[in-house]
Amino acid sequence: MKRLREYNKPMLEDLVINMGEKPFRAKQLYEWVHVKRVSTYEQMSNLPAGFREKLASEYVLDPLTVLKKQQAADGSTAKFLFELPDGETIESVWMRYKHGDSVCVSSQVGCRMGCSFCASTMDGLVRNLTPDEMLSQVYDIEREQYQKSPNADRDEQPGSEVKAADGKGHINSIIIMGMGEPFDNYDNVMGFVRLLTDENGRNLSARHVTISTCGLPDGILRLADEGLPITLALSLHAPNDEIRRRIMPVAKAYPMEDVFNACLVFFKKTGRRVTFEYSMIKGVNDSEECAGELVDRCKKLQKNGMPTHINLIPLNEVKEREHARSADKDIQRFQKILEKNRINVTIRREMGSEIDAACGQLSRKHKNMRR
Ligand code: SAH
Repeated sequence: MKRLREYNKPMLEDLVINMGEKPFRAKQLYEWVHVKRVSTYEQMSNLPAGFREKLASEYVLDPLTVLKKQQAADGSTAKFLFELPDGETIESVWMRYKHGDSVCVSSQVGCRMGCSFCASTMDGLVRNLTPDEMLSQVYDIEREQYQKSPNADRDEQPGSEVKAADGKGHINSIIIMGMGEPFDNYDNVMGFVRLLTDENGRNLSARHVTISTCGLPDGILRLADEGLPITLALSLHAPNDEIRRRIMPVAKAYPMEDVFNACLVFFKKTGRRVTFEYSMIKGVNDSEECAGELVDRCKKLQKNGMPTHINLIPLNEVKEREHARSADKDIQRFQKILEKNRINVTIRREMGSEIDAACGQLSRKHKNMRR
C-alpha cells in the first residue's frame, strides 16, 4: 500500500488526475490530509464515496495505531506507544513547556549506533521509519491531545484531559530525539520535515524543528546545505575522544575534531547555534578534569567564531545498562566550572522519567512483553 500522507500538493494533483477525478478534488484532498489532518477516509465528507473507496484500497492514510497512552501525574508529559503497519512499535513523547507544547519524534525502529547508556539501541536497528510514519506521530498526537477523540478507548487516566499551553491546541515545536539516529535515515527525515513545514499544510516553522545527532559529519554537512533554519543538537557526552569512544561506538568512526568541523560549517552556513548535549554519567564524564577539558574545547570553538551552548542531562538510568547518574553535587560542580569560564550551560529539566519517557528510555521492550 502506498502512503497518502507522503503526498504534497503537486503529487496529489497528479494522483487525482490519474484516478480520473476532476482536478479540483486535489485541493479538497490536500485539505483533508494536511490541513484538517483527519485520520479516516469516512471523514472526507465532500469527496464522492466511490473516490474514497478507491483511495482506501490503494493508500494508507494513517499508518499508526495508538496502542497505549501514558500520562505523567502532573500532566506535563505523555508517552504514546504506536503500532506500525508491519506490527513493529515505536514510542513518541508529548511535552508541555512554558513556551508551548513539543513532540519528541522517533526516526527509526531501534537504532544501530550502540550508545552504552541508551535503551533505544539495545536490540539494534530494525528498520527506518518512512516520512509519513514520522509525520503521523505529530498529526496523531495533536488529534489525541487537542481533540475529543471519538474512540477514546485508551488507558488515559480520568480527569487528565489537557489543554494546550497557548490555548490554541497545537504543537509548537518538534524535536527529532526519540528512538533512532536521524542522520542514519537522512532522506526520510528530510522528507518528513519538508511535509511538516509545507506552508500550505501543517506549516510548522523550521526554526521550531530540532534534530539531534550522535555526530555523523556527513549528515551535519548535508543539513547545512538544505537551506532550512533547523536547529541542530549534537550528542557530545565527553570532553575527549578516549572517553567518547568508551560510551559511543560511533566515535570510533568519527573523531570529535571531524564532528566539530562539520558543526562549524553548519553554523557558518546557517547562522544557527549548535547545542551540545552532555549526559552526566557517574564516574565516566563528570569529573573536574572533564569539565576543564570541555571548557578548553568550547573556547577553541569560540575562537573559530562558533558560539557554544552545553545542555547537561542528568543520566536517566536504564535497567539493562550498567551506568549510573552523576550525583547532584557533581552535576552542580560541573555546571559551576563551565559558568565560571563563561560557557553557556543549562541543565535539562527532567520530564517523563516516571513513565519511562525521558531521554534514552524509549524502547521496543513492550513488544517483547506483548508476545
Ligand atoms: N540519535 C540521536 C537522538 C537520541 S536521543 C542522538 O544521538 O542525538 C536524545 C538524547 O538523549 C541524545 O543526546 C542521547 O545521547 C541522550 N540519551 C540517550 N540515553 C540517555 C540516558 N539514558 N540518559 C540521558 N540521556 C540519554
